[in-house]
Amino acid sequence: MKRYDYIAIGGGSGGIASVNRAAMHGRRCALIEVGAIGGTCVNMGCVPKKVMWHAAQLVEAVQRYAPDYGLQARLERLDWVQLLASRTAYIARIHASYEAGLQRNGVDRYTGFGRFVDAHTVEVNGVRLTAPHILIATGTKPARPGIPGAELGIDSEGFFALQALPARVAVVGAGYIAVELSGVLHGLGAQTHLLLRGEGVLRAFDAMLGETLVQIMEEDGIHLHRHAEPQRITRQADGSLAVHLRNGEVVEVDCLLWATGRKPDTRGLGLEAAGVACDEQGYVKVDDYQDTNVAGIHAVGDITGRLALTPVAVAAGRRLAERLFNGKPDERLDYNNVPTVVFSHPPIGTVGLSEAQARAQYGDAAIKVYTSSFAAMYTAVTRHRQPVRMKLVCEGPQQRIVGIHGIGHGMDEILQGFAVALKMGATKRDFDDTVAIHPTVAEEFVTMR
Ligand code: NDP
Repeated sequence: MKRYDYIAIGGGSGGIASVNRAAMHGRRCALIEVGAIGGTCVNMGCVPKKVMWHAAQLVEAVQRYAPDYGLQARLERLDWVQLLASRTAYIARIHASYEAGLQRNGVDRYTGFGRFVDAHTVEVNGVRLTAPHILIATGTKPARPGIPGAELGIDSEGFFALQALPARVAVVGAGYIAVELSGVLHGLGAQTHLLLRGEGVLRAFDAMLGETLVQIMEEDGIHLHRHAEPQRITRQADGSLAVHLRNGEVVEVDCLLWATGRKPDTRGLGLEAAGVACDEQGYVKVDDYQDTNVAGIHAVGDITGRLALTPVAVAAGRRLAERLFNGKPDERLDYNNVPTVVFSHPPIGTVGLSEAQARAQYGDAAIKVYTSSFAAMYTAVTRHRQPVRMKLVCEGPQQRIVGIHGIGHGMDEILQGFAVALKMGATKRDFDDTVAIHPTVAEEFVTMR
């Protein structure tokens, strides 16, 4: 039996951040991971996605915008093998830096599947480890509907394993992954169909964002299918796939990508042996301090079913370690006003309440909304003018900013600083008092009237 102060099961963003922080406070820590270090974000999520997004942005720059800037560049071909090699090498460097960080902090690494034996004991590769505090940070896996032929499609993990760009692809879903990967696939040159079971995309966000994105996607040539829920998938004689929709339509493609959400998978983890409770969807139940129902067992990240975002897992994991091992009993993550970016084409940035949420929470009379709509200067000098839409949602007589939303060129990099302002309780007056940086997209947030 090996004794530790803290053991994390799951070497993704949350687990790594938490054990590193605990180890920095002098605690003896172990990290158990069955797959590649870094979890979903580094290996099959944020990182490789952003590389692909940049690649698609480059294609767009060369093909659509460069000619009107007087640059007669021609895109010869997309070298998928090179793109993957660059991506893989980049991820390998991240792996190395993560391993070096863990080593520097003296964290013991176990490569294998961790399983609870009891509330204070975990077994990995036949070795038993014990600690007064154990963290569950095992993340989630892609989910797909249980319809006939669903297995003929791929999911986001399959997307990152593609060895060539499919000529024709259908993406099913309307959330983050669906809009991000359909944008990438279209941008890189695949004929792309986006199958929505409803009317629009990103329905959890301010309505302006999804509406604008759908408009831009259609103008860009993505084939949007509304009320298009797959009923069954069949393989055709030529190897292609026929996606049979409930509305009778059939979409023929070479590749089908499920982006229909993610699900927790705690099978084999031995949660029963430890007595850890899950909710009806299978997420590990935690309180505001990341504590499960069992003393000494904690959980952070996607497995808790709360805001499945890498920086949220990292922040929750670090705060937990501060609380447990650095004498800060009140330390915990505030899950309100977490900024987020969707790497669509163009990107979306959003923090705080949507206009609808603010009206529901404070009443129409208390809400004042400011909007701005224009063509991004980067595109405005070309024949492919692309809209930017921005919105501030303000509450009360002081016009406290409770929501900041934008879609358009550069929004991914604009939002972070504005999120700080919102978190600090900035008012419209504070924004008005800030001199604009000209000419930028961001300045619109401080010049709205
Ligand atoms: P989301 O929860 O964002 O979206 C799931 C989508 O699947 C919904 O749009 C839903 O449609 C659709 N759906 C579910 N079942 C079906 C079905 N049977 N047929 C058709 N559509 C279906 O999940 P994602 O998988 O896109 O992403 C998972 C999470 O990962 C995100 O919520 C986010 O937290 C995180 N993420 C963050 C990113 C970032 O920070 N940039 C990038 C990628 C992921 P409907 O809307 O109609 O219900």
